[in-house]
Amino acid sequence: MAELGEEIEKAARLLHEAKYVLALVGAGMSVESGIPPFRGPGGLWTKYGEPDMRGYDRFLADPKGWWESIIKREGYASELVEGIERAKPNQGHYALAELEEMGVLKYIITQNVDNLHYAAGSKNVAEIHGNILKLRCISCGHRYERDEINAEVLPPLCPDCGGYIKTDGVMFGEPIPPDVLKCCEDETEKCDCMLLIGTSAQVYPAAAFPSTVRRRGGALIEINPYDTALTNSCEVVLRDPSGESLPLIVERIKALLAGTAT
Ligand SMILES: [Zn+2]
Repeated sequence: MAELGEEIEKAARLLHEAKYVLALVGAGMSVESGIPPFRGPGGLWTKYGEPDMRGYDRFLADPKGWWESIIKREGYASELVEGIERAKPNQGHYALAELEEMGVLKYIITQNVDNLHYAAGSKNVAEIHGNILKLRCISCGHRYERDEINAEVLPPLCPDCGGYIKTDGVMFGEPIPPDVLKCCEDETEKCDCMLLIGTSAQVYPAAAFPSTVRRRGGALIEINPYDTALTNSCEVVLRDPSGESLPLIVERIKALLAGTAT
């Protein structure tokens, strides 16, 4: 316990002293909210098989057929969407929202598609893989809430430009939306301390962000029950769930800000 306290203290001091803190968030944080992971025991792909690696090409080839299958909601897409609709933010999500409110955290870059950062009250969120509860026009990039788009005639078309509308979630073979990618890159260029939460950051583009921070002399703090390829590059490593360690870090930073830390 003393050791955990020391690591929490180190993390809190790094975050308190940093000028521009970002959080890079992966599936581990959503798993704490009961959203099934893709890989590993109980994973959706373990159960239903790997998804079609040409998913985006299939959409482009037949947007109407793609929408019809989505509306029928078969297989893992159905279990994922239902899991997400039921899920609630956990204490870690709320702690990140509080860090933003306190002016400590500037931006969240998330690989999750579940909307839980917004649900917890975070404002500056870049969703690299989109948001499964939203829709997006593939021509102009405009995002819509689901109830803004009439899906009686398939495929639905963008009210702005007439382009095809799909879910905002990024499919296999689909480019990361350029506005999101640019936002992540711009934010990372300013970052001098990055929280790595529940992510192994091995997949592009997330993999590039921690190494950019390191190259600029910034610090990395890992919150993950498992070792990752980044563990050895991190100043602080916390093995407890983010729902437990992030609220403790927030309390320590509050004490530092108030000048009451001992
Ligand atoms: Zn459009």
